Amino acid sequence: MSAVVLDGKALAAEHRRRTAERIASLRSRGAAVRLDAVLASAGDSAARVYAENQGKTCRELGVDHALHEVRAGAAFDEVAALVRRLSADSAVTAIMVHLPLPEGVDAHGVQALIDPGKDVEGVNPVNIGNIVYGERSLMPCTSLAAMRLIEHAGVGLRGKTCVVVGASDIVGKPIALLMMRADATVVSCNVHTRGLADWTRRADVLVSAAGKPGLITGEMVKPGAVVIDVGTSRVAAPAPGTGMRTVGDVAYEEVREVAGWITPSPGGVGPMTVAMLMANVAEAAERRAGRAG
Ligand code: NAD
Repeated sequence: MSAVVLDGKALAAEHRRRTAERIASLRSRGAAVRLDAVLASAGDSAARVYAENQGKTCRELGVDHALHEVRAGAAFDEVAALVRRLSADSAVTAIMVHLPLPEGVDAHGVQALIDPGKDVEGVNPVNIGNIVYGERSLMPCTSLAAMRLIEHAGVGLRGKTCVVVGASDIVGKPIALLMMRADATVVSCNVHTRGLADWTRRADVLVSAAGKPGLITGEMVKPGAVVIDVGTSRVAAPAPGTGMRTVGDVAYEEVREVAGWITPSPGGVGPMTVAMLMANVAEAAERRAGRAG
């Protein structure tokens, strides 16, 4: 039997509607809701497209948005001064720093300077640490997206075996930690894991965040499992000369025949990640307004 498809676009639209209501309510009380983004001007065009799309999303949801461009040769102190200023500015309620930063600028050092209450990507060590402590905090958007999609499948995590393929600081590790918080038994795999399929086949919930197209095949999946595909890679389209397309880590067509629930990629975790960022923007502004009021 074919898996139930977890439609990230539809779920994201639902979350966006709720976020827009929260923002309208803040606005009606005269509260500030403003996202300031930092972008290195030179180089990465994907980051620019993402930053500009984000500005559009903000406008659609009633959030003020400002993009601060950092010149190509900027040193750490210059970027740090900007982030410190935004952190101290009471009109700014949310901050995000687009990567990559100019060459030689330590991203972790910059992220540590974001006011944790405005850190809507959940990258400040305080917010990362709060995931471990189980405190209420702003959490990394992709991990929230994966968790919301699992919730949407209606599968409780307590006592379940969860396998996360990919263990980066901002994607794989926070997802594994959130699953631990939900009382699951969690296995974290990385590129050095031996016998990957032996682990993945045990998973009631399998999340892949490796960035390796086709890594997860049908025979690596337990029948009826929830499969969340975080991976997004650009590959050549099958017909020669038809350009590039985006694919996930999961061999979708064959895994769909084995899994109980599955996210497409694109169209699964991606749109939900954007929706979670905006939910964090609302959350940060609400907490600020709560403290002020
Ligand atoms: P990363 O390169 O920092 O980390 C990749 C992780 O996967 C590492 O822990 C590595 O050890 C592991 N890995 C690589 N090959 C593996 C293999 N063959 N077997 C087991 N583990 C393997 O990447 P990242 O920033 O964590 O991103 C991972 C993927 O998620 C990428 O495709 C990225 O584009 C995507 N991503 C998607 C969203 C979204 O919103 N959909 C957001 C962030 C990242």
